Amino acid sequence: MKKHYLLLIFAAGLLTFFSACKNETSYKTLIITGQNNHNWKASSPVLKQILDETGLFSSEIMITPGKGEDMKTFNPDFTKYKLVVIDYNGDSWSEKTNSAFVEYVKNGGGVVLYHAADNSFPSWKEYNEMSGLGGWGNRNQKDGPYVYYKNNILVTDTSAGIGGSHGKRREFLVRTRITDHPITRDLPVAWLHGTDELYSQLRGPAKNMQILATAFADSAAGGGTMRDEPILMAITFGKGRIFHTTMGHADEGGGPSMHCAGFIVTLQRGAEWAVTGDVTQKVPWDFPSAVGVVLRPDFKEMTLDEAFAYIGNYEIAKSTKHLSCIQSHIRDLAGNEAGLLEIEKRMVKVLRDKETTVEAKKLLLRELSRIGSDYSVPVIKELVSDSELKDEAEFALTRLQK
Ligand code: ZN
Repeated sequence: MKKHYLLLIFAAGLLTFFSACKNETSYKTLIITGQNNHNWKASSPVLKQILDETGLFSSEIMITPGKGEDMKTFNPDFTKYKLVVIDYNGDSWSEKTNSAFVEYVKNGGGVVLYHAADNSFPSWKEYNEMSGLGGWGNRNQKDGPYVYYKNNILVTDTSAGIGGSHGKRREFLVRTRITDHPITRDLPVAWLHGTDELYSQLRGPAKNMQILATAFADSAAGGGTMRDEPILMAITFGKGRIFHTTMGHADEGGGPSMHCAGFIVTLQRGAEWAVTGDVTQKVPWDFPSAVGVVLRPDFKEMTLDEAFAYIGNYEIAKSTKHLSCIQSHIRDLAGNEAGLLEIEKRMVKVLRDKETTVEAKKLLLRELSRIGSDYSVPVIKELVSDSELKDEAEFALTRLQK
């Protein structure tokens, strides 16, 4: 009898322990949708999946009443959530709901504004302060300036004109403007985004707003302002933090804009920052570079064996993912000398292989100059006599023999 009783206490304790762990690690998240000039039925489940796959968030989708229906019945208890994601562009909410949302953010609630959410609520003052910049909804000079980069200078432009436009959907280069913000830390300074609308000519109060990334709206590439338009923004409102992404125009299943690894990862990082003010997620190996879009409909983790199987054929114009995979393993092994030596041995093996391309050898020499040990020295010494590799080999030797 007594034994059973103890077992029960133990089981109950275990349950509490696990649920406590879960509460600690996953932030309750509310995704609001239900009206939009976009396909919200396609986008909102994708947003949920993107957030939940991090293990940091557990999100639920809440659908508002439809267009013209009674909004008084839409009255979420925001205080139950750490993060609210707005995938909504439609009828005004009730005054009561607006006030509750403003209080939630003022008191430190996190918010993500996604794509057309910045079209929403043109006459709700606080909401526009949270978004920083918005478009359409008859926005113009009365709503605030245009903010953009021109010739690498941040411009606040009060000239008269419409708010919100975009050219033809296309792939575009996203440029990181603030590299030491938690959201953009360790991201490439430029990366190619999957086919999407490039929101331009947004205007708004732009208070307490940092522009983390921009994209050049080239008129030659299907209509554009010839300015570097804000794409990712970080805003504060009271104690609350808002991450604003203008990317992600949804097709069925999300489409190329939402499958873009750059969209996914910046959303995940922006959401974490909105909740905690920091980002603990690592930049994954498949984050796009400036040379190619990376879509993730078939995303799967790459093993170190696969990376080493391909690294010898490395061509920089094609992809950096095999090297990125190896680098991410190296980062994980910091301080683990035996583990690093194993990787070093594998790199040396590829260096010795006659089939390995010069480009791949150069990369490996650069990597070995950072993490190599005495083990690499003999093979690197041999490579000094190779005219194509002389510089890299000598550089690595200088670093290794210090
Ligand atoms: Zn759109």
